[in-house]
Amino acid sequence: MSKKETALQLSANAITVLERRYLKRNEEGKVLETPAEMFARVARTIASAETKLNTGVDAKQLEKEFYRMMTSLEFMPNSPTLMNAGRELGQLSACFVLPVGDSMEEIFEAIKNTALIHKSGGGTGFSFSRIRPANDVVSSTRGISSGPISFMKVFDAATETIKQGGTRRGANMGILRVDHPDIMDFIMAKRDQTVLTNFNISVGLTEAFMEAVEKDGEYDIVNPRTGKPVGKLPARKIFDHIVDMAWHNGEPGIIFLDRLNRDNPTPHVGEIEATNPCGEQPLLPYESCNLGSINLARFAHEDDVDWPRLRETVRLATRFLDNVIEVNNYPIPEIDQMTRANRKIGLGIMGWADMLIRLGIPYNSQEAIELGEKLMKFINDEAHQMSVELAEERGPFPNFKGSIYDVKGGRPIRNATCTTIAPTGTISIISSTSSGVEPLFAVSFVRQVLDDDKLVEVHPLFEQIARERGFYSKELMEKIAEHGTVQDIPEIPEDVRRVFVTAHDITPEDHIRMQAAFQKYTDNAVSKTVNFRNEASREDVATVYRLAYQLGCKGVTIYRDGSRDLQVLSVKKAD
Ligand code: ADP
Repeated sequence: MSKKETALQLSANAITVLERRYLKRNEEGKVLETPAEMFARVARTIASAETKLNTGVDAKQLEKEFYRMMTSLEFMPNSPTLMNAGRELGQLSACFVLPVGDSMEEIFEAIKNTALIHKSGGGTGFSFSRIRPANDVVSSTRGISSGPISFMKVFDAATETIKQGGTRRGANMGILRVDHPDIMDFIMAKRDQTVLTNFNISVGLTEAFMEAVEKDGEYDIVNPRTGKPVGKLPARKIFDHIVDMAWHNGEPGIIFLDRLNRDNPTPHVGEIEATNPCGEQPLLPYESCNLGSINLARFAHEDDVDWPRLRETVRLATRFLDNVIEVNNYPIPEIDQMTRANRKIGLGIMGWADMLIRLGIPYNSQEAIELGEKLMKFINDEAHQMSVELAEERGPFPNFKGSIYDVKGGRPIRNATCTTIAPTGTISIISSTSSGVEPLFAVSFVRQVLDDDKLVEVHPLFEQIARERGFYSKELMEKIAEHGTVQDIPEIPEDVRRVFVTAHDITPEDHIRMQAAFQKYTDNAVSKTVNFRNEASREDVATVYRLAYQLGCKGVTIYRDGSRDLQVLSVKKAD
């Protein structure tokens, strides 16, 4: 490690991840840049948008600010930006949604476009709801149709084959509306855990469906080919099946389609039918979005949030993400056009759990919920304010007219959406912080660094406190690693235990309340997994779904401990 890299404060894990996938290599696979050079490459490329747009902003100065913001680990753009900025591929977005029509041409066109996106490190989401159901008529061949689930398997196989040409393996989200005739097959599609392994699947729930669940009534099933109702299903029975499958192995998830569309900033351009793979980014067909996350752990100052510095970072990060749209190299012309017309960006956060620990606030407390809301409101307001200023400098997003912002007294804005909370699976490792809005996964755990290297990793703040207060020992850290939790270890002081709560120490309701607190002031959606203990019942899962709906969440992903055969529990690999 060079002196410069040490100065960057990157952890050994961060460097491993960067070397494996992010740093520039030559044809023989030799790494050609250091992490510092990678950040410099990204900063230079993203700052160059100022010159391109002729904004009058000093691009050289801005480049320095971008560089500092990333190397101080205060802000990190999504992986494709780190990997591809200033390089041949130049594809900088993590999230895409592609339309899937009801014809062979359209379906295979979507598969081709998926391949192009996966090759560049992006993830794709699709609604399969337009595909006619299995055993429906096919007029050209006078045969019968094979239905959305069988076509999903073709997308899955294509993804499997591409394996993203060395960047990262592909990720897909498949969505089917709850009123599609094949909905039962879809709900059961991943019962066999060896199929659709490159897909997350979610059922698109409608308000009509949720009302029917409440009343224990029936709802209409519609054939998308004709647009006509073809029957009715008992809502509660379908809801129970969804719950049952999610209880079994975490899938399908659910998304609330009407709620996504209530927040659709450009209803005049189209309806939202799908999200990106991890669910946090609802998009129109052919839209893409680039994400970036502020590492909150860096903004806990003594016992308060460093609000002025956070404001500056939000502003700079918003400019950064808008610039990404400008210098991005889009995989196909339709995406280029749609993305530039709406200019959606997704600024979010990571390191929330770490911030709370620094402030001495338990994740599962009212104080944490209130601070979460206050923080996200602040970030959302500042990002919107900055986007308004960017509109003065560079013009509003081209579809502004007719959008939800185009109201009397409304000010032009540069970006149709500003905020999204991503999982930050890899960038949180690069930043050595807790991921997204999630609580700690474990206080101490065995991390599989490379394929067979293992080491006991202790949360750095826990280690620091344990040493300061004199209860640190290697044996204790190993003991904690066995369970991940410190709650049942009496030699750890009560106040320390209270703050170091993990995903399994808190209730599913605590999880969903935190998700809802952040959702309240997030334009797009919040990536969150609600963890259940192995003993949790189906009714517990159903309760959380209902609570999420009541609290205004846009979707829910749950996971019951030990419910997947091939569970990767203590291992968090970067992909
Ligand atoms: P990162 O930390 O690498 O920037 P996140 O874990 O925050 O990424 O995921 C953000 C989004 O990036 C996901 O919702 C998805 O759209 C996309 N994504 C994540 N992992 C992959 C992957 N392996 N392949 C393709 N896209 C991915």
